[in-house]
Amino acid sequence: MPFDVQHYINGKFVDGGERFSVYYPATGEVIGKAPDGGQDEVNAAVEAAKQAFEKWSRTKPSERRRILNRFADAIRQHADELSRIETLDVGRPISENRHHYIERVAANISFFADFATMVGSECYPMENGYVNYVLRQPVGVAALITPWNVPLMLETWKIGPALAFGNTVVLKPAEWTPLGAWKLAQLAQEADLPPGVLNVVHGHGPNSAGEFLTTHPDVALISFTGETITGQTIMRNGAATLKRYSFELGGKGANIIFEDADLDRAVQIAKRAAFFNQGEFCLAGSRIFVHESIYDRFVADFVEVAKGIRVGDPMDPETEMGALISPEHLDRVLGFVRGSRDDGNEILTGGERLRLSGALSGGNFMAPTVIAAKPQDRICQDEVFGPVVTVTPFRTEEEVIAWANGTRYGLSAVVQTRDVSRAHRVAAAMKAGTVWVNDFFVRDLRVPFGGMKHSGIGREGGHYSMEFYTEAMNICVAV
Ligand code: NDP
Repeated sequence: MPFDVQHYINGKFVDGGERFSVYYPATGEVIGKAPDGGQDEVNAAVEAAKQAFEKWSRTKPSERRRILNRFADAIRQHADELSRIETLDVGRPISENRHHYIERVAANISFFADFATMVGSECYPMENGYVNYVLRQPVGVAALITPWNVPLMLETWKIGPALAFGNTVVLKPAEWTPLGAWKLAQLAQEADLPPGVLNVVHGHGPNSAGEFLTTHPDVALISFTGETITGQTIMRNGAATLKRYSFELGGKGANIIFEDADLDRAVQIAKRAAFFNQGEFCLAGSRIFVHESIYDRFVADFVEVAKGIRVGDPMDPETEMGALISPEHLDRVLGFVRGSRDDGNEILTGGERLRLSGALSGGNFMAPTVIAAKPQDRICQDEVFGPVVTVTPFRTEEEVIAWANGTRYGLSAVVQTRDVSRAHRVAAAMKAGTVWVNDFFVRDLRVPFGGMKHSGIGREGGHYSMEFYTEAMNICVAV
């Protein structure tokens, strides 16, 4: 410290653009500077990626696998440093990073490196003497635009398949969290990824690097994760040059707890779903619906658990919840709570900023917050993206399905019940890309990941990523 972040273009670390401050969410102190890339940096990065594509797209998949696995190994070898950097970027407790997180970051690269060498192809023989088969070809330069909440995980979730299927990349990380992407670039260099294959340009979204990438004629693919409204802007901006999009956008997950659920487990799942990553999580189970017969018991236990969450120094391994990303974001989240109170909802616990002592007095801490609300209230409709969860009693299965589906989002849901038939029935009725039954945030990289409605367009994961990151060619042979 302090971190001196640079762009990574054509295998070299370079400056370019004004420098902006990087803050540690837990103290508010400036811990580094990063460059705000402009049109020149974007042009240079896209040009480098375009040149590198010529060779990388023709490199044998087995050779790409070898190189990318070296990159994944470098990530694993630097797990402690990456854990620390992710906590400095985001404010999430370091214990969360050390458990599974960094391994998932590495697996995002190694899984797709292996997967790309194993996929088969379709064949359609015709009865009149022709055979069709399908070839998968790399597309070109991929712009990967990522948010600040789980940066290393989302950056590698896109870098892995993009590179494994033979594309080259320009990554634009979020302005709040440039450190992780900068470290990833160092590890890519260390792992000898050929120059230009992976480029990183930093910047502030609108009228900066992110926007310039979305309008660049040589960018063929855009994989974007972020707010729904930004996705709409990106789509408009990319229309003139006809990009291919994959969008992972906002969420407002329902967590439905039926009367036969294991109550203790349900409370623990609800805690994790609501408060993991300070609730700054697209998949958050931010609306809890509980059957009326167990509502009072659940709420009493859950509020007790929420009050007991250890909020504090993210570097302390005992801490369960860290700091929100920025003072502006904390104000926004508190604004949602105020609005909900004004709407007449009862704040069962939390609802206020937490002022910690010493160095942490400047941190963006907030008390875990539980609000009793009705499904149509604004607090149940808008994505808060903070440690705020609503609880609502329900009477019938039909009613709760309608409520769970009654937002503009459709990313994920949780269904908790011991009744097998009901579990499958209700899960299938969810308008959501992912449904967890009796658990939360279990991920297999082979499955489709993405959202319905305003939560996204397309799916990534396993062969779904292949479909996005490759062109399907039909070869028709006269036999
Ligand atoms: P934003 O949409 O504000 O930003 C995401 C990225 O887009 C950032 O890198 C940002 O840059 C960039 N950006 C902003 N404006 C433009 C533009 N006009 N053109 C191109 N790029 C642009 O999202 P947040 O970073 O605030 O992240 C929170 C959001 O992400 C939430 O809505 C959350 O639900 C969603 N999300 C969705 C996930 C999913 O899988 N569905 C997973 C995780 C988060 P800059 O930071 O410099 O502004």
